[in-house]
Amino acid sequence: MPHYDAIVVGAGHNGLACACYLARAGLQVLVVEAAAAIGGMTSTRELVLPGFHTDVHASGYQLANLSSATDELDLAGFGLELIRPDVSLSKVFSDNRSLSIRTSLDHTCAGIAKFSPRDANTWRSLYGEYLSERDRLRRELESPPRPPEAISAELAQDPRGFQRTRFGYQSVRSWAGETFDSEEMRDLMADFAGHAGFAPDDAGGASFALLFLSIIQDAGNRAVKGGMGGLPTALAASLAAAGGQVRTGAVVTRILAPDGVATGVELADGAILRAGTIVSSIHPRHLILNLLREANLDHSIVEDIKRYEIGASQFGIYLALSGPVAYAAGSEAGSATQTHLMPSTTDGLAEAFRAVRAGQLPAVPSAFVVNEAAVDPSRVPKGKSALKVILTTVPYTADWPAQRIPYAQEVIEQICRQHVPDLKEKIIGMTVMSPLDFAADLASALHGTVTHGAMTLYQQGSLRPTLSLGQYRGPARGLYLCGAGSHPGPGVSMMPGRNAANVILADLDQSRRH
Ligand SMILES: Cc1cc2nc3c(=O)[nH]c(=O)nc-3n(C[C@H](O)[C@H](O)[C@H](O)COP(=O)(O)OP(=O)(O)OC[C@H]3O[C@@H](n4cnc5c(N)ncnc54)[C@H](O)[C@@H]3O)c2cc1C
Repeated sequence: MPHYDAIVVGAGHNGLACACYLARAGLQVLVVEAAAAIGGMTSTRELVLPGFHTDVHASGYQLANLSSATDELDLAGFGLELIRPDVSLSKVFSDNRSLSIRTSLDHTCAGIAKFSPRDANTWRSLYGEYLSERDRLRRELESPPRPPEAISAELAQDPRGFQRTRFGYQSVRSWAGETFDSEEMRDLMADFAGHAGFAPDDAGGASFALLFLSIIQDAGNRAVKGGMGGLPTALAASLAAAGGQVRTGAVVTRILAPDGVATGVELADGAILRAGTIVSSIHPRHLILNLLREANLDHSIVEDIKRYEIGASQFGIYLALSGPVAYAAGSEAGSATQTHLMPSTTDGLAEAFRAVRAGQLPAVPSAFVVNEAAVDPSRVPKGKSALKVILTTVPYTADWPAQRIPYAQEVIEQICRQHVPDLKEKIIGMTVMSPLDFAADLASALHGTVTHGAMTLYQQGSLRPTLSLGQYRGPARGLYLCGAGSHPGPGVSMMPGRNAANVILADLDQSRRH
């Protein structure tokens, strides 16, 4: 029976990053992945037509800009190549004016000043504050989360403690309304909170929007040359160089944890693999409710994870195009890594969230476009183009088998009518992914979500996924969590994987000493 020091379940980028750190520390590591290929939500495939390399899930290298893993694991040395387009993101309004975050802060501010000179100065000063806080932020993201009482004690000593606490709870509408004069800057902020599932009036949306947009101003909304799949490929190469192995097409059906101690995993074909350390990068609900079902878990662990909220389902329209398209807003919008198209106002976004939460398809969905080929022509055949349209929130419960294609066609009509008039005539291939398709494609995309659990205020930090599982340690000795369901949560960052590896190595060191 094969025996390893550590088995990592799931070869998404967090599982692979965790495995790299464990292997570099000298452990014999195996990563087992259910899908036929590695990557999880960082995979690139010929999804629409041969020769068109599509990012099925993530496209932007954003939070990862702050991650130490890129350098520590020498990902550039193992083939990761990042492209930084001048225009990181653009928001297009209903009159086809646009507002962009660009590489140069001066260029960004010049664009904002067209809407409000005061907002341009405000953005400059917010960005300055981010730069002065960047190292502290990075430390927070790259450390196990502190318990709520430690955070409260620190804020009580901080002269700005009240302001920081208030900001942490604020909705994006509340904060952007008191911070910016122009509706357009407020709308841009609201869009970005919506990315993580925060409706404009949801508590906690402000800090997420400001963090992400500041990171993008700082290091860009970078794309991986050839597709996001270049990231897991580089991680797997880094892992192989450290002696680790990956096995794909290996579905883990059970984690063996007799007497509260993790000892191995069972695969769908009945094979048993043994290891002293088991690390899970899969959705925490799947881990607790399905894979640990015979581990005699404490009742409260099961009840807490049943209440762990799943979050906003997504919808994707992937288009192969006969050639580049022209945005009515101009070339700046068309050259951005991503362009936010609809709804153009905060009220419109709030209405889209309201409809989804009532189980309805929004008349105007929350949609952004990834300009895949404009940013990286190497992904498509010469002269051709490609776009990916992501709807950031749709109801999971719609009748998707019947509504999938008509809804996609309706969204394309809206985009053509308002923003990209020549889009329809250039389409030569289309693949549509409803929440059901995302979920069927990838076991971790529960209900077609991208976050391994909603990013509500009560599912962040040490409360993610639940208080008892919030420090990367699972409910059995030797079992750990290392995916987006752990701090600091979703997004391409490698941080949950890196943080978990540090906790595991510290625990192993501790047990060796005793
Ligand atoms: C449409 C979409 C767009 C996104 N856009 C962005 C973006 O632009 N920028 C950004 O930063 N983030 C984005 N994200 C979010 C980001 O991709 C994810 O949060 C992140 O990649 C999750 O990584 P992970 O390694 O934690 O989990 P995953 O990538 O989900 O990896 C988990 C792995 O576990 C495997 N697995 C599950 N069950 C089993 C089992 N029983 N046995 C074996 N293996 C199993 C799965 O197959 C999967 O490969 C997007 C996500 C989606 C879906």
